[in-house]
Amino acid sequence: MEYLLSFGIFATGAIIGSFLNVLIHRLPLKQSILFPASHCPECQKPILFRDNIPIISYIILGGHCRNCRADIPYRYFIVEVVSATIWTILFLKFGFGTDFIFYALLSSILIVCSYTDLNHYRILNSVVITGFIIALFMILFLNSDHFAVSVYGMLTGALIMGFWAIVGRLLFKKTALGAGDIKLTALIGFFTDPQTITVIIFLTFFLASIIGIIQGIRLKTIKDRRIPLAPFISVATLVMIFLGNKLILAYLEIFK
Ligand SMILES: [Zn+2]
Repeated sequence: MEYLLSFGIFATGAIIGSFLNVLIHRLPLKQSILFPASHCPECQKPILFRDNIPIISYIILGGHCRNCRADIPYRYFIVEVVSATIWTILFLKFGFGTDFIFYALLSSILIVCSYTDLNHYRILNSVVITGFIIALFMILFLNSDHFAVSVYGMLTGALIMGFWAIVGRLLFKKTALGAGDIKLTALIGFFTDPQTITVIIFLTFFLASIIGIIQGIRLKTIKDRRIPLAPFISVATLVMIFLGNKLILAYLEIFK
């Protein structure tokens, strides 16, 4: 039964991933997310239902359009697999309950923000605001005791990121942290709590600086290199969701 349920969750995560691909592609272009139906961007031909099965169709078609053989970006496959995998791990860790629903929604938002930031250096207001509205309703209806903690988490996230945005601006004389980064962090704080969001921000800067240093060495310069931060924020958040308590306990062990 557990296996069957896990498979159902995996499949649902993949279908959601397929929808996230539509959001990633269309929202930055200000296109409708409902119309027209999925079509090949190259030959404009509508994608048949049997060619639109998450994960499987991409493998069967070898990443090409059935009609014109144009390459389908491998992002479509990756987003579906990542979404399905995150959903399954969340289910195995939390079971099917409030935590699962919360984190499944949050991880979907993180996937979209990571890709729009990678592709366009943008974290879209429409995505963050929708996230806030859904989260607000979910907290009020499913877990209203959490509301105060959520508000403190949101303020903590916004204040810490805002502080570093100002410091970055003074140090580098340009925008090092964008408004989108601050809003996304505030949203994650709203989903979690003040302690968790503080560790997430610390982890984010830690991961980003490692990658920044590696990139700086490879390109022999860090001038004018923009690093989209949303993917790091997302990885840090997932690490905290999956290992949070263990990480905090391990950290406290050091001081024993
Ligand atoms: Zn085509």
